[in-house]
Amino acid sequence: MTTLVQAALTVRKGARASFGHVTALAVAVLVVLGVFRDRQALGIEHAVVLGAWLVVFGSRAHARINARGKDSQRNAESWFDLEQGLLVLAATHAGLQTLGGLMSPLYPVLYVLIAFTTAFSERRVGRSLVLFALVFEALLYFVTEGHRDPKPFALHAIFLTLFGLINVIFTQAELQRVRLVTSREREQEKRRVQDDARLFRLATTPTQAPERDDDKLFRGSVEEVHQALFFNLELLKRTLGLHTAVLLLRDENDSKLRIVEMVTDSDDIQDGPFSPGEGAVGACYQRGIVMNLEHLRPGYSGLGYYRGPVPVRSFVAVPVREGGQTLGALCADRVDDRSFTPAEEQTLAGAVEHLLRALENERVFVQLERSKREHTVLYQASQALGAALTEHAVLDAALTAAQQIVPYDFAAVTHYDTETGQHSIRRAIGEGAEQLSNLSFRDNTSLTAMAVQNRHYLPYRGDFDSQSQVVYTRNTSLAGMHSLLIVPLLVRDVAIGTFALAARRRDAFSHQVRPALQVLANQMAVALSNAASVARLEELATTDGLTGCYNKRHFNDELKQRLQAAQRFGRKLSLVIADIDHFKVVNDTYGHHTGDVVIKELGAILRRLKRETDVVSRFGGEEFCILCEETDTQGAKLLAERVRQELADTVFETELGKLKVTCSLGVATFPLDAPDKQALFNAADKALYASKKGGRNQVCSA
Ligand code: GH3
Ligand code: MG
Ligand code: MG
Repeated sequence: MTTLVQAALTVRKGARASFGHVTALAVAVLVVLGVFRDRQALGIEHAVVLGAWLVVFGSRAHARINARGKDSQRNAESWFDLEQGLLVLAATHAGLQTLGGLMSPLYPVLYVLIAFTTAFSERRVGRSLVLFALVFEALLYFVTEGHRDPKPFALHAIFLTLFGLINVIFTQAELQRVRLVTSREREQEKRRVQDDARLFRLATTPTQAPERDDDKLFRGSVEEVHQALFFNLELLKRTLGLHTAVLLLRDENDSKLRIVEMVTDSDDIQDGPFSPGEGAVGACYQRGIVMNLEHLRPGYSGLGYYRGPVPVRSFVAVPVREGGQTLGALCADRVDDRSFTPAEEQTLAGAVEHLLRALENERVFVQLERSKREHTVLYQASQALGAALTEHAVLDAALTAAQQIVPYDFAAVTHYDTETGQHSIRRAIGEGAEQLSNLSFRDNTSLTAMAVQNRHYLPYRGDFDSQSQVVYTRNTSLAGMHSLLIVPLLVRDVAIGTFALAARRRDAFSHQVRPALQVLANQMAVALSNAASVARLEELATTDGLTGCYNKRHFNDELKQRLQAAQRFGRKLSLVIADIDHFKVVNDTYGHHTGDVVIKELGAILRRLKRETDVVSRFGGEEFCILCEETDTQGAKLLAERVRQELADTVFETELGKLKVTCSLGVATFPLDAPDKQALFNAADKALYASKKGGRNQVCSA
C-alpha cells in the first residue's frame, strides 16, 4: 500500500517537475512544424503560445528560486537548469523562425545562448543542451527548411559545440590557475615557517627535508614566538618612546642577519638580510657588546634597516646572547635627540632575556611534542610487534612504524646465522629492493656484516656514498641513496640480523631520529626471535622428530579439513597407507638403530615422490599415510607403486652387510570407497591388509 502511494507521489512529482520540459518540447515541435514561419500569418494562436510559454517559464523560474536552499540537492538543481535551458532554446528558435529562420543574420544569438546556458550549469546539463540544440537544428534545417547542402549545417553544428565547450575550457583554465596560485602560496608559507623555525633554533635539524608533521608543529610555535616578540617590541616602543624597535637574528644557513620582528613608525624599512659586519648593528652583533649611539647627524647611514638616510638621532643595540653565542641584536632608536640611558639599556637587556625565554619555551614545547609523537609511534609499534606471531607480521609492523618515525626510500631486514656466518635478506622494499630478494652472503666487509660484528649502528655519521660503500655485496648497490642507517638486531647482546633504512635525501637519519629507530630495532629483534620460537614450537607440535614428516595429530587435522573441502567441491581424495614388511625382523636382526634408518629413508622417499599438495605423515611405528588431493585411485596407485619400487631398490649399508627392505601399500579413495574419514581409513587399511596377504611388496586398492 505504502509503495503504491509512494509511486503515485513520485509520478505526480515527476509530472510537475517535467512540466517545463514538456512545454519546451511542445514549442520545439511547433517550430519544427514551421508554425512561426510566416510572419504575415501570425495571429491569436501564436499569441496564446507565447502567453503559455511566458506563464510556464515564469512559474518554473519561481519554483526554482523557491527550491533553492530548501531542496538544494544537486540533482534538483540541474533538472531545473536543463528545463530552463530547453525552454529558452525552443523560444529562441521560434523567434528566429519568425525573423527568417536559420539563415537569419540574428542566428548568432543562439551561440551566445548556448555559451551562456552551458557556462552556468553543470557539465552534464550543458552536454544535454548542446545535444538538444544539434538535433533540433538538424530537424529544422533538413526537414522544416528543406535544405540539401549539409555544409552550412555542419558549420553551425561545429560552432554550437565550440560555444558549448567554451565554459569547459575556461573553467578548466581557471581551476588550473587557482590550483597553481594556492600551491605556490602554500609553498611560500611553508618556507617562511621553516625559515623562522631555523632562525628561532626551534629544532636543530638542518631542515632540508623536515619530518612530515614538523611543519604543522613548527607553524604553531613560530606563530607563538612571533606574537611574543611583537608584544615585547610594542611594549618597548611605547614605554621608551621609540621610532623603531627591531629584533635581528642570524640565519645559520647564510650567516646573515634577518629581521625577525619589528615595530616601527617608519615607512622606509629595508627588508634585509644584512651582512653581519655592517654598521652599528653589525658591530653590536660581532663584538657582542651594547652599541649606544647618540646625537646622530641627519643623514647618518650606519643603520642598515633604514632605506636611505636615517631619520633618527639616537640608537642602541643590545646583543642577543645564548649559551656563549651571539644570535643577533635587539635594536631601538628614537627620532628625538634623547640618548639611551643605562637604565634604558637595562630595560632592553631585560627584554632580550624575556625573548630568549619565550624562544626556549617553544623549543622545549617542540621537543616535547616531538618526543610525544615518537612515543606514540613506538608504543603503537611495540603493541603491533607484540601481537605479531610470524616473521612476516613482525616485518610488516616494523616497516610501517619506521615509516612513521622517518620517511625512507628503501628498507631491508637481514637475518644472520651465527653458526654458518651467513647473512640472508628476509625482506627488502623500496627503490633497488628487487636485486636483493633471496640474496644470501657470507660474512664479508660490507657495512651489514660490520654492523653485526660490532653490534653497533653504521655508518657512524649517517652519510652514505653508494659508490664507495658496500651495504650487502659488491654486486648489489643502493645507487641514488645519500643517507643510510644500518642497525643491528640484538637479542641478549647477540646480533641476529640487521635493519637498514636508506633515503635519497641527505642527513635523513640524524641523531634526532636514530634513538627511536634503535628502540624500534630492539623491539623488532625480540619480536623476530619470539616469532622464530613460535615457528619452532609449531614445527615440534606438528612434525615427527625422526622423519620430519607430519605427525598423526596434524595429519588427522589435515584429513578432516581436506575431506570437508573435497565434499564441498565434489572432488576426489585418496589415502595411501604404507607399512614396512617384516619390520620386526629388521629390528631383531640389525638392531633398532638400523630400523630407524630404514624408517627415515622411507619418510624421505615419500617426501621426495609426493606432489606439492600431498600430505605425508608418519602415522606410528613404520607406518606412513599419504593424502592426495584431487587424485583418483588410479593416480594414487601410481604414486604408491613408485614408492614401493623406490624402497625396494634402496640398499642399506649395515654392520651386518647390505640390507634390502620392502613395503606394502593400500589405497582408498573418497567418495568412491568410503563416505567419511573413518571409513576411508578402514578401506585403506583393508587394502593394505590385502597387500600383506597377497605376499607383501605390492600395492592394492580398496
Ligand atoms: P608386517 O610385514 O606384517 O608389517 O610385519 P611387521 O614385522 O612389520 O609387523 P608390524 O608392522 O606390526 O611391526 C611393527 C614393528 O615396528 C614393531 C616395533 O618393534 C617396530 N617399531 C615401531 N616403531 C619403531 C621405531 O620408532 N623404531 C624402530 N626401530 N622400530 C619401531
Ligand atoms: Mg610392518
Ligand atoms: Mg606396522
